[in-house]
Amino acid sequence: MTQLPTRIDFRRNTQTVPPSIRAATLKNTRTAVIKRDQAVQRVGVEYWERLRQAAHDLRLHAITHLDRYLPLLESKVIQAGGQVHWANNANEVYTLVTQIAHQHRARRIVKVKSMVSEEIALNDALRAAGLDAIETDLGEFIVQLDGSRPSHPTNPSLHYTKEYIAELFQRKLGVDAPPIPTVLTDIARVHLREEFLRAEMGISGGNFLIAETGTLVLVTNEGNGRMCTTLPPVHVAIVGIEKVVPDWDSVAILLQLLARSTAGLDLSAYTTFITGTRPSGPREFHLILLDNGRTRILQDAHARETLLCIRCGACANICPIFQQVGGLAYDSPYTGPIGAIVSPQLFGIRRAGALPFASSLCGACAEVCPVKIPIPQILLHLRHRAVEGDTFEQPVAPTLVRLGARAGTLALARSWLYELGTQILKFIQRPLQRGEWLPMLPPPFNRWTMTRPLPKFRADFRAWWRKRIA
Ligand code: SF4
Repeated sequence: MTQLPTRIDFRRNTQTVPPSIRAATLKNTRTAVIKRDQAVQRVGVEYWERLRQAAHDLRLHAITHLDRYLPLLESKVIQAGGQVHWANNANEVYTLVTQIAHQHRARRIVKVKSMVSEEIALNDALRAAGLDAIETDLGEFIVQLDGSRPSHPTNPSLHYTKEYIAELFQRKLGVDAPPIPTVLTDIARVHLREEFLRAEMGISGGNFLIAETGTLVLVTNEGNGRMCTTLPPVHVAIVGIEKVVPDWDSVAILLQLLARSTAGLDLSAYTTFITGTRPSGPREFHLILLDNGRTRILQDAHARETLLCIRCGACANICPIFQQVGGLAYDSPYTGPIGAIVSPQLFGIRRAGALPFASSLCGACAEVCPVKIPIPQILLHLRHRAVEGDTFEQPVAPTLVRLGARAGTLALARSWLYELGTQILKFIQRPLQRGEWLPMLPPPFNRWTMTRPLPKFRADFRAWWRKRIA
């Protein structure tokens, strides 16, 4: 069997960055924010807040009772004719999926957009095993064609303009493609129709898993989810263990929040419920339940609410940092504020420890989050973990940064020390000062000034303030 990759490299093909990334991200996120606000106004703010609280409570209940709901889910899926597999990590998923594909002599695979498969870089592993996996969500299809990565949890090609996509279709598909969204969608539809008909296996993620009946819930807006999970003879769903909810009442609450938060829609165009095998569907249904660090997140009382996320993308849309830098800058499949808290916990502080610092802590993300995840508090907790370490991770901040942080804490707690420190800094900066700026600091402090000048340190704030209030 072909050797599978053992290390995930998310930086693949990052050189493919559309030139218009910033303008497209800004325009598309702002539109999404307006649509979400309008959707909330339609149901009324009071009702919306009650829904959010109910969703928060039920999701927290579910993730803290996985020992009850996961075995129930497993038994119900098996009763309905499906098969359940447990995977601790990415490698175990690769092995399971390739084994299932080989059993069925499947080489051509169609996929529904799934954050979990991005998290474990499944497509790279399938390619290494000689399997051809085609993304069928329009945004993912564009990103895959471009050899790039998704930049947003629900809108993977958010950073592309229609002009760029038209040029891409011309270059890669050899068709005449004007920059008109409906025409571009038709081109993709015709191309993908052939793939659906030829596929021997379908792979999906899952938005929710209903424990009481063993039902997989898939929410899409393009209908590709139904094609992938009904046309091929085998369907494999790879879902994180945190996606389980107790019952159908829980899903009724979550679906009201998801579509409105994602796209400003009252309901998504396609909500598909799959319970085991069906006479009109695939002969086999496999559910792979993935841990990949989730039980570890659950152990941390300060960060476990990260697992409540329903991947709506609203926090990314509203985030002023995401709007400016776009999703590719996060160098992780999880982008935006949720990416800044989930990535360090899943991939480790050493790889993603800088992300919690890429926030102004304005709190807009927590205000729009439909399941009320306290993102700013978790960001602060992870910053502390990066600098000081805790029972889950060793600190990764350089010694100089840690000493600086401690000195800052001391100085800010004692006014005389703060005063003394400002006078010392004022003296030290003199030889480096050019007018109001410190344009070039010596190493290791030059990491900032290599790309932009630093305003000079002002030691006269207190005197200025005293004068102002006198
Ligand atoms: S953290 Fe909240 S707002 Fe962000 S994607 Fe998850 S559910 Fe949506």
